[in-house]
Amino acid sequence: KEESTLSIVVVGASGDLARRKIFPALFALFIEDRLPEDFTIFGYGRSIMTDEELRNMISKTLTCRVDKRENCDEKMDAFLKKCFYSSGQYSSEEHFLELDKKLKEKEAGRLSNRLFYLAIPPNMFVDVARCAKRRASSENGWIRIIVEKPFGRDTESSRELTQGLKQYLSEDQIFRIDHHMGEELVENLLVLRFSNLVFEPLWSRNYIRNVQFIFSEDFGTHGQGRYFDNYGIIRDIMQNHLLQILALFSMDTPVSLDAEDIRNEKVKVLRSMKPVQLEDVVVGQYKGDCDGIRCYPGYTDDMTVSNNSLTPTFAAATLFINNARWDGVPFLMIAGKALHTKRAEIRVQFRHVPGNLYNRNFGTDLDQAGNELVIRIEPDEAIYLKINNKVPGLGMKLDRSDLNLLYKARCPREVPDAYERLLIDAIEGERRLFIRSDELDAAWAVFTPLLKELEEKKIAPELYTYGSGGPVGVHYLAAKHNVRWGDFGYED
Ligand code: NAP
Repeated sequence: KEESTLSIVVVGASGDLARRKIFPALFALFIEDRLPEDFTIFGYGRSIMTDEELRNMISKTLTCRVDKRENCDEKMDAFLKKCFYSSGQYSSEEHFLELDKKLKEKEAGRLSNRLFYLAIPPNMFVDVARCAKRRASSENGWIRIIVEKPFGRDTESSRELTQGLKQYLSEDQIFRIDHHMGEELVENLLVLRFSNLVFEPLWSRNYIRNVQFIFSEDFGTHGQGRYFDNYGIIRDIMQNHLLQILALFSMDTPVSLDAEDIRNEKVKVLRSMKPVQLEDVVVGQYKGDCDGIRCYPGYTDDMTVSNNSLTPTFAAATLFINNARWDGVPFLMIAGKALHTKRAEIRVQFRHVPGNLYNRNFGTDLDQAGNELVIRIEPDEAIYLKINNKVPGLGMKLDRSDLNLLYKARCPREVPDAYERLLIDAIEGERRLFIRSDELDAAWAVFTPLLKELEEKKIAPELYTYGSGGPVGVHYLAAKHNVRWGDFGYED
């Protein structure tokens, strides 16, 4: 550990992602003692900055977690002293050579590993990969490059990006991040499935009626719509985050927990999926609303979005997996902005108890209420199972209760940010949570035909009011597949 050194280069250091997420996650790892003993962090970008200016900028977003508050200022100072800045263009090999010189000075001839985090617009990824690989590779250690979505807009552009990166890097040097994969509960999904006998045997069409993946935000684009308008909610959330979680949820048991074994299973299940059909999709766009106290702007009121934009800010879709385990089970996804709630969760609705005894004998309507397992990522991480239960007393009255694991009650320790887990995994070469290129290709194949059809036919999104539950069409989509939405504000 002592003989080698790690250099982390945050490319695009002045940007939003670097400031809000990457530097704070690196600091959290530092105070948790998870970074190698000897490390250096370099910010890189076109902005002209001194080391001191970079440190000032970073220091504004660093915080110590509740259990690490002691000597917080000293820890921050120690961390900031390890941060430096080198300015340059993203496509200039000469400027990367200058960076290389500075890195070498800090590495002082030791075995050095280099991690580049590309927190820049994706059209610069290939240039940076070229310059970093050719001019700023480590001579005796590894080089790894982390890139963050979007990975293209469709199958073709994603392949082009992959080919571009692979001109300079091998697959095992590319770490494609989907930061939701670093969430504590997403990691726990596999533990829940594969280490509890009560769940895995039920994980199939025999017992599961439908599965819902819900991701809703209670705010709109607020003047930041330029990037979003080019992508829309399907590309921004569904094709990557929700589909990744769906793949983990539905894959077969991997041979081992090794990255390649898990990713092989994910690819298999993604390749078993039918491309999403237009008739199985509802797209929406939020419109403005005034509630007497405040007015909320509509999507096209955003100055960075064109007035006649057809970009969906909401989508609901039904997906199917054509394999023996999941044949005929609807997997429903909802993703939307400016909805009435901020929420990310998986809801698993089980089939009814056959010949429900209690319904027959007591006329309760509980046979309508099958068991439901909810894995809530946000707000307040929790896993709970809705079960039917007798109300205590002399009569026979049944009620639904929750078997509830609320994380903040069970583990009061703050849950680490997703970026912390992903950064430490990249440093340690653990690829389980990163997306392999064939996986990316299979994920695009599920959505590309739909995206093309929506755009070619210029399908107008259904308008929904800011702060509502989304377009009315969502109810028809659920009814079509005989599905009851979980309590996403539609039903309890
Ligand atoms: P950003 O703030 O727009 O850009 C990051 C930095 O890149 C800027 O500070 C700027 O640094 C440089 N840059 C910006 N536009 C450029 C251009 N047209 N040409 C060359 N350089 C440019 O982006 P970000 O929000 O930090 O996001 C970075 C990447 O992560 C993007 O690919 C984004 O899609 C992805 N991402 C971001 C988030 C997030 O939370 N922000 C979440 C998920 C994914 P200099 O001027 O100093 O060179």
